[in-house]
Amino acid sequence: MSTEKRPLVGMTLDEMTAFVAELGEPKFRAKQLFQWVYEKWAKSFDEMTNLPAGFRAKLQEHALIRLLEEETRQQAAPTETAKYLFRLTDGQKVESVLMRHSYGNAVCVTTQVGCRMGCTFCASTFGGLVRNLTAGEIVDQIITMSRDLPAGERVGSVVLMGSGEPMENYDECLKAIRLMHEPDGLNIGYRHITISTSGLVEGMRRLAEEDIPITLALSLHAPNDELRTSLMPINRKYSVREVLDAAIDYGEKTGRRVTYEYLLIEGVNDNPDQALELAGHLKGSLAHVNLIPMNPVAERPEYKRPSKERVTRFRDLLEENGVTATIRREMGGDIDAACGQLRNRVARTRGATRS
Ligand code: SAH
Repeated sequence: MSTEKRPLVGMTLDEMTAFVAELGEPKFRAKQLFQWVYEKWAKSFDEMTNLPAGFRAKLQEHALIRLLEEETRQQAAPTETAKYLFRLTDGQKVESVLMRHSYGNAVCVTTQVGCRMGCTFCASTFGGLVRNLTAGEIVDQIITMSRDLPAGERVGSVVLMGSGEPMENYDECLKAIRLMHEPDGLNIGYRHITISTSGLVEGMRRLAEEDIPITLALSLHAPNDELRTSLMPINRKYSVREVLDAAIDYGEKTGRRVTYEYLLIEGVNDNPDQALELAGHLKGSLAHVNLIPMNPVAERPEYKRPSKERVTRFRDLLEENGVTATIRREMGGDIDAACGQLRNRVARTRGATRS
């Protein structure tokens, strides 16, 4: 048996069963262990009181139960949205958000350290891609934040909308999604899981074949190729028409309404004619537009959030032209909640202290 400790979080029940057998324990222990990890969110092996002391000692020696440690947290009040910065076992840092709504708790998780998509408005991409997260690191974000909820509360929905491009880390993201859904674990319904992509067509098409009813969110942000390419370099590879076709096909194949995310940047993509052009594309398809007033990022001072009037006008134009649209409730603007901002700010201040 290898000397390196094996992370339990990220293992499927089958993988855990094989691991338990490797440790020389009866197979039925795997299910108990699975529940300790994913359902009861145990922080240490000592808590696993229905496991024999000998087994716990073996786990202590050969297994890891936590993949992340809280580095900092920004939270206005204990009952409000919290943004976490976590440190991974190799020292890399990722951000996650816990949102407390009247209808339940939602989390936003990160799928990669950094990102290589290069979207001009996004703080996550300025340092490029460092590495993919494992399924365990993705799921552990949910588990770690769940421990901070009041007793009896759980996370009801998840968006893979933190830093990173999930379609570039497809297999680990899908494994994480299946683990989130396990009834003996986090037990989050597929319908309450959303994966957000900048529009990698192969991944979108592959996802449509998985036969899991999760929501697809496409970050569109512009109604035509010229503008979209200037904001999102990935548009050189997949045109607006191609990503729209893949999203519309996803809706038809799965019966799930597709979310189109549309970031609003003042004077760049928030004009009335752009709303009409967008409506022209989406009218008649199973679509919902989520308008996101730009969260200003330090690295791009020229991109500004539009006034409330301009945002409402854009929404009204979509609605009047047959497309359902909502404005994302402003959350976390004061706590660096735009992807990657907390990580960058901490890196900047730490850098400054060192020099
Ligand atoms: N790579 C995936 C998922 C991560 S980004 C994607 O592109 O969808 C999640 C969402 O946050 C995307 O819609 C992204 O465009 C948006 N976003 C990025 N920077 C932002 C900012 N400064 N303000 C508001 N939303 C932002």
